[in-house]
Amino acid sequence: MRLVLVGPPGAGKGTQAAVLSEKLGVPHISTGDLFRANIGNSTPLGQKAKSYMDAGELVPDEVTNEMVRDRLSDEDAAQGFLLDGYPRNTSQAEVLTGILGEKHLELTAVVQFDVPEEELVKRMLARGRSDDTEDVIRRRLAVYHEETEPILGYYQDKVIKIDALGSIEEITGRALEALRSHQ
Ligand code: ADP
Repeated sequence: MRLVLVGPPGAGKGTQAAVLSEKLGVPHISTGDLFRANIGNSTPLGQKAKSYMDAGELVPDEVTNEMVRDRLSDEDAAQGFLLDGYPRNTSQAEVLTGILGEKHLELTAVVQFDVPEEELVKRMLARGRSDDTEDVIRRRLAVYHEETEPILGYYQDKVIKIDALGSIEEITGRALEALRSHQ
């Protein structure tokens, strides 16, 4: 199964991605986690990414696309993967189509997490990550609407929209059920 999870910041994608990856037996590939690991290890890639992340902006595509291309070439991703936080704009989506196309593959589905905006801000302020200050949260939400939402149009009939309000187990159940009926 080759999946992309899409949703606004604070939608609980990361939590669901970890659970779904376990249940579906495919690696969870989170660009946010990859960037944070690079920042933690003070790598050149981490140094490039940090200022953008702290401002709530997207890290430039050329940095992000190469990081994902590398990660998808690892052996554990050959049988499937769950991408969390990538693609985040249409140009990244086109690059992903190209990376998969070289291997004669396509995505199985794109799972969209739907959550009302007031709830997102509440959740992010409660979680208190270093890029979770109110101004940065507002910027990340705006970037989501401007840059990321259009990829749902790009993917069209691959998109499965699920209601992401409820308990972790309820939402996992909805996602698995929707994936079963999509195939
Ligand atoms: P959230 O889902 O809460 O927005 P993430 O962990 O997915 O958090 O991402 C944190 C930050 O990492 C983003 O605000 C952005 O700066 C950077 N980032 C993650 N994925 C991408 C991507 N695909 N393209 C560009 N920047 C990204």
